[in-house]
This record gives sequence, C-alpha cells and structure tokens, in this order.
Amino acid sequence: MLKVVNPATEEVIQELPTDTPGDIAHKYALCSEAQKERAEKPVKEKQEDIKRFQALLGANMQHLAETLYDPLGKPHKESEVEIAATADRIDFFLEHCSKVMETEYINTHEGAPEEMITYEPLGVVANISAWNYPYFVGTNVFIPALLTGNAVLYKPSEYATLTGLAIARLLHATGLPHHAFTVVVGGGKQGAEILNQPVDAVFFTGSQHTGLKIMESAAPKLMKVQLELGGKDPAYISDDVDVEKVATDLGRDVFYNAGQSCCAIERLYVHEKIFDNFVDTFTKTAQSLVVAHPKGHDTDMGPLARKAQLETLKNQVNDATKKGATILCGGKKLGGKGNYFPPTVLVDVNHNMTVMKHETFGPIIGIQKVANDTEAINLMNDTDYGLTAAVFCHDKNRASTILKTINAGTVYWNCCDRVSPQLPWTGRKLSGVGATLSQEGIRAFLQPKAWHLKPPAPV
Ligand code: NAD
Repeated sequence: MLKVVNPATEEVIQELPTDTPGDIAHKYALCSEAQKERAEKPVKEKQEDIKRFQALLGANMQHLAETLYDPLGKPHKESEVEIAATADRIDFFLEHCSKVMETEYINTHEGAPEEMITYEPLGVVANISAWNYPYFVGTNVFIPALLTGNAVLYKPSEYATLTGLAIARLLHATGLPHHAFTVVVGGGKQGAEILNQPVDAVFFTGSQHTGLKIMESAAPKLMKVQLELGGKDPAYISDDVDVEKVATDLGRDVFYNAGQSCCAIERLYVHEKIFDNFVDTFTKTAQSLVVAHPKGHDTDMGPLARKAQLETLKNQVNDATKKGATILCGGKKLGGKGNYFPPTVLVDVNHNMTVMKHETFGPIIGIQKVANDTEAINLMNDTDYGLTAAVFCHDKNRASTILKTINAGTVYWNCCDRVSPQLPWTGRKLSGVGATLSQEGIRAFLQPKAWHLKPPAPV
C-alpha cells in the first residue's frame, strides 16, 4: 500500500494499493492497443480532447489545488498559480502541434526520386514524473505526447499520486480512451517495472540519481530517453544594479515553493562593492516570509514535501558551518509537527562546501562575495549541473557577455526561475538530456520517416 502523508500534520491522508508487476504488464498491453487507435485519429480530434481537458483544469481549480497543498505542502496561492499556468501552457501545444507534424516535401532535381519526411508517433511513452510541480512537469510530456498520437503510461511520483489520479479522471472525462492515458501507482519499484515493458520511449523528470538508473535500464533496449534532472543554479548580482530592489525580489524568489524547484537559485555570487547592502536586505526579506500551514492565505512557505529531505538540509548546513560558513537566518527544522524548515541564508561560503556544489532542493541559499565578473563566471561554471543561470546587471551588453560563457540550457537577464512554453526546457551536463517545451518539445514525441519515391519506368 502507498501511504499519502500530509507533510504539515504528518497524518495519513489516504492509502492506495500499488501496482504489481502483473498489473503493470496488463496496463502496458492495454495502453499499446489504445495507442494504435490514437495514432489513427485526425489531429483535430486529438486537439478537441486536449481542449476539453484544458477547460476542465480551469473549472476544477479548487479541487485540484487540494491535491497540491494537502499531500505536498505547497502554499494555497502557489497551487492555484500552477494549475492556471498549466492551462495556459497547453495553448502553446494546441497551436503548434499540427505545424510540427506536417509532412515536409523536399525539392529534388528532375529525374531524381521525390523526397519527403513524415512524422510518426513514438508509440507507448513512459512518463515517469517528479512531485514538485506535478501539473507542469506532467503536462510538458503527456500533452504533446497525446497530441502527436502516442499513448502514455504515466507514473506520478509516490508523493503526487493524488495529482496523477486527478489528471487521469479529467483526461478520461474528455472522452479520451481510458487506456491511452494510464496511471501506474507506486514508487521506484513500479517505475523500474515500467521499463521492463516494451515501451517505446521514456520521458523522466526527477533526480540525477534516478535518472542514471533510468538511462542504464533503457540502454540495452536502445530506447529513446529524455531526462529532466536537478540543478544547482547560480545567479550573479553585479555592482550596477538597484540593490534594494534586486535583493528584495530575490529574497522572495529563491524561496518560492520552499526552494523545491529544479531551477531554484541555490547559489548567489554578489559583487564586493554591493555585498553588505545586498545581504542585509536579502536576509530581512527572507526573515519576513510567512512559514505556516499551506492552506493559509498569507503563507509564503509551507512544509517540505519529503521528510527525508530534512536530513539533506541538516547535513549541508552542518558541513558548511564546520568549514566556516555563518548562518544569518534559519538553519534548522522548526520544532513541532510537520516538515517545516525556514528560509536559511549562509555567508562566508565557498566551493569546498556541499551547499555550494550539490543540489539542496530546499530553502537554503549560500551567498559568496566576488571581486569581478570573471570570478563570478568561473564560480557559476564550477558545477556538475547545467540547468539555468541568471545575471542581474543594468548593462545588457555586459550581461550578454557573461551569459554567453555560461554552460547551461537556460540563461536569464534580470529574472530567474522562469519557464516559457515557447522556449526549450533543457539541461546540460548532469541536468539532463533532451528538451521539452518549444517546437522541439513537440518534435521529441515524433520519429521521422524518410520517403524516396521513384515513379516506375514507363512500360
Ligand atoms: P526522484 O528521482 O526521487 O523520483 C522521480 C520519479 O522516479 C518518481 O516517480 C519515482 O517514483 C521514480 N523512480 C524512483 N526510482 C526509480 C527507478 N529505479 N526506476 C524508475 N523510476 C523510479 O525525484 P523527485 O524527488 O520526485 O524529484 C525531485 C528531483 O527532480 C530534483 O532533483 C529536481 O531538481 C528534479 N526535477 C527536475 C525538473 C526539470 O525540469 N529539470 C523538474 C522537476 C524536478
């Protein structure tokens, strides 16, 4: 049985039976059948299903938000933002899928065979997902997958199973054949079992640790693999900014979703000329955030979704302080029930500390002083990850010069932790393989077929 636990109260919300290997094999077989039917449907009909799903998301906002704040501790206001923004994001896929799927006719010279490229669905796509933004990271995969004629075997995280089941109910209510989107209930064991089925591709969102296991398990089958993994994303604050404004904004932004975002800023490098002022305002803002029950309308930060993460945070703080870091606020779990860990600001940090090198995935930030842009660039690139990086700087040319040297899939000037459906979401190095979103993130669910067409010789 899978226990869904409320991280604010530590009470069990619900117990759900998990899928056995036999259940998963059966679900795969039905999903594979449904895919053949889905592939034959005209694009317009596929779009209609997804439009109805989009409307249902909006109409059921309140109930869906409960699947975020009860089992995951996401504050009420952030939960509603996630669902509304997911519905908006679907517009992009609806608008662009036909164009991406269009047959391409290639001009050939006279006498040569005609050439064309068609795009076919991959088949059954395994979508193994993380819990931190289950609506966002799920829809980035299953919406374009379904629009392009695939069927989806969806395994939500064990922490977001209620979200996964709610998504399935809405999709099935649209008239989409039930088995074209099939939920597998369970944790890592069930995720691994999905890869024992002859699925055609796996799209994974989660930790680097699990991503490597997925890659290993997919390798002997040469199965298509996309991985959206973790990050240790940096931001550099140059000496020409409005310090008060940038420090106040970042003092809120880095703690969004309690820092449990793949693209959360986890390292700050601040120019020495503004360091003291910046740290002062930043810390005051962090201390002003309301850490409370996620249902509260004023709550800025709820509890961490996973109890086990508290240990990682404790270890990173201990390691940092042992090596000379100073805690300006926070630093340890709040007493009482619930996985509450307050916004934590560390200074006197360096790259010998795990807090500046390993993903934290929680509300801790290390702030390091730098003498110039070159030092900031070197530190920003001193990481195994490559998801996003940000520069806060008045001068656009200076910012562009810096951002060109950063080895990350996404770079930001005067903003951070932002995702646009128009742009590819892609990690470099240990942050992942492949891209979702943008037209690339639709093409990812299609395989090209090359046609050489030579008319027969006249008889
Ligand atoms: P996780 O790796 O623990 O779990 C992710 C999923 O994998 C879950 O559904 C889990 O049940 C499943 N799983 C676990 N072991 C498995 C196995 N051996 N085989 C198959 N499936 C298995 O990650 P998480 O805690 O759910 O998510 C947090 C991580 O996800 C963080 O590192 C975060 O940065 C990352 N993330 C990345 C992005 C991105 O877009 N790059 C987005 C969201 C989260």
